[in-house]
Amino acid sequence: MIRVEEARQAILAACPVLVSQPLPLAEALGCVTAADVVAGHEVPSFANSAMDGFAVRAADTAGAPVTLEVVGTAAAGSAPGVAVGPGQAVRIMTGAVVPAGADAIVMVERTSSEGAKVTIEVAASVGDHVRHPGEDIRAGQVLFEAGTELGPGHLGVLASVGAATVDAHPRARVGVLSTGDELTSAPGDLLPGQIRDSNRPMLLALVAQAGWEPVDLGSAPDDEAAITAAIERGVAECDAILTSGGVSVGDFDYVKVVLDRLGDMHWWQVAVKPAKPLAFGVVGEVPVFGLPGNPVSSMVSFELFARPALRSMTGHRDLYRLELPAVADEALRRQPDGKVHFVRVVATTDDEGRLHVRSSGGQASHLLRAMALANALAVLPDGDGVHATETVKVMLLT
Ligand code: AMP
Ligand code: MG
Repeated sequence: MIRVEEARQAILAACPVLVSQPLPLAEALGCVTAADVVAGHEVPSFANSAMDGFAVRAADTAGAPVTLEVVGTAAAGSAPGVAVGPGQAVRIMTGAVVPAGADAIVMVERTSSEGAKVTIEVAASVGDHVRHPGEDIRAGQVLFEAGTELGPGHLGVLASVGAATVDAHPRARVGVLSTGDELTSAPGDLLPGQIRDSNRPMLLALVAQAGWEPVDLGSAPDDEAAITAAIERGVAECDAILTSGGVSVGDFDYVKVVLDRLGDMHWWQVAVKPAKPLAFGVVGEVPVFGLPGNPVSSMVSFELFARPALRSMTGHRDLYRLELPAVADEALRRQPDGKVHFVRVVATTDDEGRLHVRSSGGQASHLLRAMALANALAVLPDGDGVHATETVKVMLLT
């Protein structure tokens, strides 16, 4: 058996970072910048009003209340209009260019106007409610360093400086293949011995949820030619492939035969429960993860090995799920067996913000519902586990 960390390091070493390209902003959510992003121009690019009100010369309002002559109106989006001279004001809307001559905005709530006159009720100071050029962003400033994951706010900032594209690592295209004679996705009754293919929709969804592009490679029977055809399609179309099933020690595990023939594979027994069997290798230039067939093992294996590797391929600097200490609200016991156990748990926070966990249900590797109900995995190192009220490390799945 090899340790989780050894398997992870070997996998990461074999997974190349996808070559960056200019991505349109609309396609870049969740992608990672490949270079520092520099502002093309300053924001705001002109002095503008933060309020609806009147643009004035602050000095004119020193003896407030004072009455000024309204000489024009400035709306957002209009080119600069009439200037403000001594004793004058311009009616102004939020976002409009501050007129020449004006150095302060008085909010409309502090004024009363009648015809072409406005009475300013409070004295203004120079700069009141004026947004200055470059206050948010300076031209040439590094907005985001290389390695930044682009969220909605980042995309807004890029739009604000007129960037049409951003140099980022593309979304990985990840092929998902199920294997096994027993699998069906057809509607209707199951034939004797058949089960429904749950791994493929689950793994496709895990890929999509992480922001990558799932590619459905279908379900192949335990047949060398069928598995070969599916893997070859995946190698041609994808940046990485996930298979499930056929990697343990059963008799009809043709996944092994095919991958060994096509690629350079490792067949590992990892010191974890669930998800002990794991195949990993490179076919052509495409990393292939042979995940175990049992649905819980498949999902845990994705979390422990495939997800961090795919994050690395897509340029992420932080690869792993957050791990935090939690209070075990019930005993999470286990037997010593040389493995780390990942126990499906529901994590909640108490009034003090402390994390608490309880088992989400049965812990066998075919009990997918308990995995679905879990939002974290309690990490139990080799030993006896923890008693109720003891602290346990948990890996958050959300
Ligand atoms: P295997 O590794 O192929 O021996 O499969 C281990 C267990 O996982 C068996 O009970 C399979 O029927 C089950 N299994 C394999 N693939 C899937 C799948 N795609 N969906 C649900 N269960 C599966
Ligand atoms: Mg099988």
